Amino acid sequence: MGALKTGAGVAFLDRDGTLNVEKGYVDDPADVELIPGAAQAVRNFVDAGYVVFGVSNQSGVARGFYTLEAAIEVNNRVAELLAAEEADVREIFFCPHHPDGVVAEYKVRCECRKPKTGMITAALEKYRLKPEKIIVVGDKVCDVELGKNAGARTALVSTGYGAAEMEVIKRSGGPRPDFFARDVLEASRLLLA
Ligand SMILES: [Mg+2]
Ligand SMILES: [Zn+2]
Repeated sequence: MGALKTGAGVAFLDRDGTLNVEKGYVDDPADVELIPGAAQAVRNFVDAGYVVFGVSNQSGVARGFYTLEAAIEVNNRVAELLAAEEADVREIFFCPHHPDGVVAEYKVRCECRKPKTGMITAALEKYRLKPEKIIVVGDKVCDVELGKNAGARTALVSTGYGAAEMEVIKRSGGPRPDFFARDVLEASRLLLA
C-alpha cells in the first residue's frame, strides 16, 4: 500500500448533467455527450493540483432500468471522451442502490447514495488521499448536500437539472452552495480563483 498523500485537493464531479448531458436514465454509451467545457474544467482542476473523481447516483440499476454493467460502460465512455481531450478523471464512483428498488441485490439503504459520503470515503481510501481541500460540483441539491456533509466547497451548475434546482434552493432557503455556476467550467474557475 502506498504512502498516504497529504495536501493538495480532491475534486468530486457529478456525472449526468454536470460532465455529460442529462438525458434521463442513460444506459447506452453511444448516447453519452460531454457538456461543452467539461474537459477544460477537469484540466483546470488537475492543473491546480487536484485529483478528480466522478461521483454518480445510478439508482436505475436498483430500479431495474439497466444493468450494473451498462452503468459501468457509460462511466467508461464518459472517462474515455474526457481522456480524448486530455482530461484525467481518475475513476468514476457510482451508487447502484435505492431503498425502493426492485432488484433485490441493490434494494439497499446504503452509505454511498448521495448525499451520503460513502463514495468520497471510498475514493480517498482507495487512492490513499488525505486532501486539505475537497470540492464537489453537481447539478442537484443532493450534490450540494454531499459537499456540505464532506466539508467540501461546492458549486451548483445550471446545466442538467441545475437551473430548476437553483430555484428550489433560492425559494426554500437552503442548502446554499458556495457558488451558483453556469456550468462545470465556470464552477472550476470560481472554485479555483
Ligand atoms: Mg447530476
Ligand atoms: Zn449506494
